[in-house]
Amino acid sequence: MPRLSEVIAALDNLWPAERAESWDAVGTVVGDPDQEVTRVLFAVDPVRETVDEAVKLDADLLVTHHPLYLRGTTTVAASTFKGRVVHTLIKNDIALHVAHTNADTADPGVSDALAGALDLRILRPLVPDPSDPAGRRGLGRVCEPDRPLTVRELAARAAERLPATAQGIRVAGDPDAPVRTVAVSGGSGDSLFDHVRAAGVDAFLTADLRHHPVSEARAQSSLALLDAAHWATEWPWCELAAAQLDEISDRHGWDLRVHVSRTVTDPWTAHAASATTTDTSGAPN
Ligand SMILES: [Zn+2]
Repeated sequence: MPRLSEVIAALDNLWPAERAESWDAVGTVVGDPDQEVTRVLFAVDPVRETVDEAVKLDADLLVTHHPLYLRGTTTVAASTFKGRVVHTLIKNDIALHVAHTNADTADPGVSDALAGALDLRILRPLVPDPSDPAGRRGLGRVCEPDRPLTVRELAARAAERLPATAQGIRVAGDPDAPVRTVAVSGGSGDSLFDHVRAAGVDAFLTADLRHHPVSEARAQSSLALLDAAHWATEWPWCELAAAQLDEISDRHGWDLRVHVSRTVTDPWTAHAASATTTDTSGAPN
């Protein structure tokens, strides 16, 4: 069985910490480098539900996309929910490791997994990382569908292929418009509008889109917008990352047991459709 330090070194090789944004907090949060690792759980969020899942699974390592602490803290008292997470992890000998923006821009990374879940062929990064001579790393991906799709069909495919959430998929735009090219970005994507416009794509699929950026984007072009739940857009990365670690484990003869959490940790838990829906078809009226 490998030690935690060996597994972390392999993960750091996939998602080097120095490629994370300067404001980010990635790397090992909890864990003894000398402890042995047999079972690993991948999840989007380091929250009570996924930590409890790691305990039940008898996991030795929980790898999450989102950081536990994005800023410094002066307490890990169990009276705080993050402190409780730290206590539960340490009491159960479970390490926590975070790969966040360093996994977003990786090749393959979060948006590759999102595109893969939707059967989209990747053309290039939406915001290329200038330090990658191969031009494959970067934020978001510009893709084309495996076959001609309309906006409605792309939304239906996202609703079907991404894990189910209360939100589902929101659409802004003509549902019958063709989607020949689409930009995707796992997680909050509305800071990427300028890049999406410059890419000249027909549609943009991401999460956490807000009123004003969407309103302005719609006023300026025919770009269709698809807004999925943040958690759902990043969850496919867990499966990709687990497969990558499985392959590393095989190569090293580690015999790791690698699992992916299916617990929905999107914070939105219910959706009530309006009593009088103005226009669900999106057709002009
Ligand atoms: Zn995220």
